[in-house]
Parts: sequence; structure tokens; C-alpha cells
Amino acid sequence: MKFLLVEDEEFNLIVLEEMIKISYPDVEIVTANNGQEAYEMLQTNSFDLILSDINMPIMDGYTFIKKIKDELQLQTPTIAVTAFAIQGDKEKLLMAGFNGYISKPIDMMELHKILEISLLV
Ligand SMILES: [Mg+2]
Repeated sequence: MKFLLVEDEEFNLIVLEEMIKISYPDVEIVTANNGQEAYEMLQTNSFDLILSDINMPIMDGYTFIKKIKDELQLQTPTIAVTAFAIQGDKEKLLMAGFNGYISKPIDMMELHKILEISLLV
């Protein structure tokens, strides 16, 4: 399996990667620092799962999900990793095309659960 992690803060990227490796030690993890970088990678590479931050420079998570759904027509399960935890934002994330979301700081059990559900689809 191959996952794409999109996140502008290096520390968050490392934490997320380490947490994923606890549940999925054999997964290949590729990282991108913003939506634009990830979008370019997706033009020539395919992944089993994408986890993306929302607040990023150059291209944010909302623009990123819209572009991969509309322009690349990707069906890859995509999880928003967001600092926003209020209900309105959760609905907005799902409406934008994300298959699920997880709040920062990331809870290990919650991450494990959302990865399991997303990979079943
Ligand atoms: Mg960010």
C-alpha cells in the first residue's frame, strides 16, 4: 500500500507518518508540503489513500480536493487532517469531497479507526 500525506508543517508530517507506521508498518509513505505539490504528484502516481491538511500555503486543502476530484477525477479515499473541530467545518469538509476527517492533535485510536474504514471502501 502507498499513502500520500499532504502537510506544510514538517513536525506534523513526521508525527503523522510515525503514527501511521504503528498500524501499517509496511505502507509506503510519500509526502508533499502543500496541495500544489500533491496535485502534481497525483498526475503521474497513484495512491491507496491520501491524508491532507487544510491550512497550507500555495494551495490549501479545499482547493486540492476540488482539483483532484474535478480535474483528475480521482476516487482515492481522501481524509482531511484538520485543526478545526467545529461541526460546521466537518460538514464543509465532507461537502468539499473529503471522505472523512481527523482533528489535530491526532488521537491514535481515531486515526487507526479512520484508516481502517477508508481502506475498506
Ligand atoms: Mg498547515
